[in-house]
Amino acid sequence: MSDLVIEGLCATVGGTDILKGVDLHIRSGEVHALMGPNGSGKSTLSHALLGRPGYEVTGGSVTLDGEDILALTTAERASAGLFLAMQRPTEVPGVLLRDVLAASSALDGDDHDDAVLVELERIGLDPAFLDRPINADLSGGEKKRNETVQLAMLRPKFAILDEIDSGLDVDGLRLVSQRIEEATNNDDMGVLAITHFTRLLAELKADKVHIFSAGKVVETAGPELADELEAEGYARWVTETEAPVKESNTGLYDDPFAI
Ligand code: ADP
Ligand code: MG
Repeated sequence: MSDLVIEGLCATVGGTDILKGVDLHIRSGEVHALMGPNGSGKSTLSHALLGRPGYEVTGGSVTLDGEDILALTTAERASAGLFLAMQRPTEVPGVLLRDVLAASSALDGDDHDDAVLVELERIGLDPAFLDRPINADLSGGEKKRNETVQLAMLRPKFAILDEIDSGLDVDGLRLVSQRIEEATNNDDMGVLAITHFTRLLAELKADKVHIFSAGKVVETAGPELADELEAEGYARWVTETEAPVKESNTGLYDDPFAI
């Protein structure tokens, strides 16, 4: 049983405060959905957790089974059991999927080779993808399937999935969400699933749903919260002061013909 504990996490990007005290506690096998308006800082949270350069943590703590994750390099965080499927997976020309999987796999030898082929088939990717550079010239949905194969072979303790549903067609969405749900059941993987849509949660069963607004979690409830959100939108949770600056207030988009 593992615990990922985020307490009072604050972070700046490009000199701007984006994360303003994030609190989350995820245990092995749990699925936490994180839903929030564009620009509220969800991807910033995912990058801060993995230590992306340029994302400066200015307060709070993140521990994995009591270990201070923030003191580690990105590679060490991955070795400790954290996995991030990025909203826009990076293309890495010259580095083959085959080599990345072999280097990061939880298995080795024939077990690894056999498992890779099973995972590719399950997720609907041709084995030819093994000999292509990571994510290079892949469609949006192929990249998300590719990330899922990496997750399946790596077997992390906790997976942060930043809009893994975006770009996937309906079949891909079903295969990807089923595979991740299986990892939560068979490997006891914990999940933080950033998403805008309940369609991801049809197969990937959320234990908790968090609403994220203006850099922090503002409400937590059960899966019914995702349905309420989909029906009502974010108005209930985004206050006047937190709402994005209205165009008419910026001066940039003022009506040039107004007197
Ligand atoms: P979300 O994923 O919730 O849509 P992001 O975390 O991507 O939001 O972005 C949060 C805010 O941080 C946005 O206003 C975005 O423009 C800003 N931001 C993200 N990255 C940078 C950056 N590198 N430099 C400056 N601002 C950034
Ligand atoms: Mg984002």
